[in-house]
Amino acid sequence: MSKIKIAIVGAGSAGLFAANEIGKQLGKEVEIKIFDAGPPIEKRICPQKEEFECAQCDPCRIMSGIGGAGVWSSGILNFNKKIGGDLEKLCSAIDLEVEQVIQQIDYLFLENGAPDKIFDPYRNKEELKDLRRKCAAVDVRFVPIRQRLLGSKNTPKIIKSIQNSLETKYDIQFFPNTKIPAFDKDKNLYFANNKKEQFDYILLAPGRWGMIWLSEQCEKLGIKTFYKALDIGVRVEVPSIILDEICEKVQRDPKFHIITPKYKDFIRTFCVNHKGYVVKENYEENVVGVNGHQISLNGDSDNSNFAFLIRQKLTSPLEDTTKYGRSIALQTSILGGYKPLIQTLGDLRDGHRSRRSLIKRNPVQPTLNDFTPGDIAMAYPYRFITDILEGLEILDNVIPGVNNNSTLIYAPEFKRSAKKVNTNEYLESKEIDGIFFAGDGAGMSRGIVAAALTGIIAAKGILNKIINNQ
Ligand SMILES: Cc1cc2nc3c(=O)[nH]c(=O)nc-3n(C[C@H](O)[C@H](O)[C@H](O)COP(=O)(O)OP(=O)(O)OC[C@H]3O[C@@H](n4cnc5c(N)ncnc54)[C@H](O)[C@@H]3O)c2cc1C
Repeated sequence: MSKIKIAIVGAGSAGLFAANEIGKQLGKEVEIKIFDAGPPIEKRICPQKEEFECAQCDPCRIMSGIGGAGVWSSGILNFNKKIGGDLEKLCSAIDLEVEQVIQQIDYLFLENGAPDKIFDPYRNKEELKDLRRKCAAVDVRFVPIRQRLLGSKNTPKIIKSIQNSLETKYDIQFFPNTKIPAFDKDKNLYFANNKKEQFDYILLAPGRWGMIWLSEQCEKLGIKTFYKALDIGVRVEVPSIILDEICEKVQRDPKFHIITPKYKDFIRTFCVNHKGYVVKENYEENVVGVNGHQISLNGDSDNSNFAFLIRQKLTSPLEDTTKYGRSIALQTSILGGYKPLIQTLGDLRDGHRSRRSLIKRNPVQPTLNDFTPGDIAMAYPYRFITDILEGLEILDNVIPGVNNNSTLIYAPEFKRSAKKVNTNEYLESKEIDGIFFAGDGAGMSRGIVAAALTGIIAAKGILNKIINNQ
């Protein structure tokens, strides 16, 4: 009897954890093929430094490939059911215990070489209480989260180890450099050379890199999708010493939530890279962006950076948050000559364009080399600039120094939200049987652990169908 065939599109966190879940249950009884548009992990080594740890030069910034976007990230694993999506709701819909699934995800990373050290804010009770007191005094919400930092130096090795174990233990094959241009209702995947292959089940997990492609495919096949809120803001860079107390004693990636006084917008810190670097990202059609990463636990930069993001929903007539976010990012990219803009906070506040001579004398030196000094207020709406200035002023009560004139502000920083695909509780399309979705690209998650969790849920859906059809 021929084996049941399963295709997974996207070898990121969602795809890898889905494959592992199915492999664990059915071993070699099923055939799983994982296709990824990007290169194998070995080829993602920095061509300049010939090692994993770069992630700062342009050739390294390939945001796809085996391991997905997480490979070049700092790999901060957030173990909290409220981070990265509504993980509790997703799990309880199919009677899963969310904490157990999160633990299972952590375990696979540990088994494959993740550092033992865990950052647990509840360990240092006095420091946590002190931080909470400071936050409460100025209406800032602090979200305590247990975290593990893989570090961008380790992440590729850990992913490679997961890939090896999937290949050796189960009938799972990886197909890097294989972009899937289309799929259809009969569960055929199409390939570049006009070939197609039919599967019993397809799981689509293309990440943010593939989210526009996925929404176009869904539209073509009559699968409904919904717009989600946009996260847009700036990346803030400060001397690392001002974050030492919080990042080393309480939480490695501290999450602060603020409601801004004037517009009552929700603004938050995200992706805090203590002793890390700001990096440039190149998106499609001349849109650049910034992100951040930290190489290892000890870090080796004198600065820390974090995204400061406003969440913005839109209603009719422009519900398309991606289009709106992209138009702001494009405008910022044009102003910066297709390089990220940098401005000191002092200049942004005082309405001056920053100049290179001033940046050279600034007490905080940028960790990104490829930038244009400029005026972010020329590119961003007044509302967002107001939110950022107000937010930093409030945050200064919790992190003294963050609102200094010398603080560096980078733009554009935006997290494109994928459209959410219409699925049942097992993340199977409501319109087409046997087609499942998971991860950031299908609007199900934001982050490594959350994407993995959605991969596991979709895998359980596929397993159920296989068992029920036997
Ligand atoms: C610089 C950076 C830093 C980050 N830091 C963190 C962090 O510290 N902690 C955290 O939790 N999250 C972090 N994230 C987010 C995290 O990486 C993502 O949330 C996570 O990788 C999402 O997993 P995924 O499986 O949904 O998609 P991805 O990891 O994006 O994987 C999707 C894969 O699908 C492939 N693909 C897309 N379209 C196609 C197609 N048509 N055919 C074939 N293959 C296709 C892509 O090549 C890609 O490899 C970071 C992201 C970036 C970019």
